[in-house]
Amino acid sequence: MTTNLDKPAPRPAEPGRSMVLAQGVCKSFGPLEVLKGIDLEVGVGEVMCIVGPSGSGKSTFLRCINHLEKVNAGRLWVDGHLVGYREKDGKLYELKDSEVALKRRDIGMVFQRFNLFPHMTAAGNIMEAPTQVKGISKPEARARAHELLARVGLADKADAYPSQLSGGQQQRVAIARALAMDPKLMLFDEPTSALDPELVGEVLEVMRGLAEDGMTMIVVTHEMGFAREVGDSLVFMDDGLVVEAGHPREVLANPQHERTKAFLSKVL
Ligand code: ADP
Ligand code: MG
Repeated sequence: MTTNLDKPAPRPAEPGRSMVLAQGVCKSFGPLEVLKGIDLEVGVGEVMCIVGPSGSGKSTFLRCINHLEKVNAGRLWVDGHLVGYREKDGKLYELKDSEVALKRRDIGMVFQRFNLFPHMTAAGNIMEAPTQVKGISKPEARARAHELLARVGLADKADAYPSQLSGGQQQRVAIARALAMDPKLMLFDEPTSALDPELVGEVLEVMRGLAEDGMTMIVVTHEMGFAREVGDSLVFMDDGLVVEAGHPREVLANPQHERTKAFLSKVL
């Protein structure tokens, strides 16, 4: 049990309806306050895009959602469950590592750097977690890997190694690999920032398809066209806070805050 979180929390009104709910989420690294009270909500099946300057805490926030960092104060729920804690008799208890590992299975994450295993084929990369973590048989995992490769437009690349694939193709394999665990929520941390410009579109197309299929997604991106067309909401973060949030078209057409205006004038 922790000292700063031991007051019982008001349960979110309808936890089943929001996939992610953040209330006053704070995170520090030593004396450095990185998240200073993030409030936001992502509904089931919604796509939230997050933009903001480098160092504003976007990656840290995604890492908190994915149990890679522990929140210092505030509350963070994923699918109605408090991240990192279990509530019993009005008290909070830290989850054990094994319990955290179980929860993390439900969340897929795609990074700027694709981090595929270089010594495994595309199909091998996708089969790794289902066979190792979920104990799914190899033939079943292989069949599913082929299905997922088709879904990301790479049906003919099952036996290719990462070094034989373009950056855009590697990132699409990374998306397929995340999908192989059947996540409820997909987190994307600048998934196209490391790509040559001509390869960005193919990755965004795959993400758009996922959104259309109803996947709940949080996407940190500076691709404003994607945010406008695919996003249900757009959040502008600066200095560890949500400065502005709303429907992407409204935020983009009519930003309210000077900091949002200044940022958007640089990326649009
Ligand atoms: P963004 O993704 O918006 O660029 P980050 O969340 O990566 O921002 O980083 C926000 C701030 O937190 C930066 O100042 C960064 O140096 C700091 N930070 C992130 N992770 C750590 C860590 N593990 N230890 C110390 N400082 C960190
Ligand atoms: Mg980042």
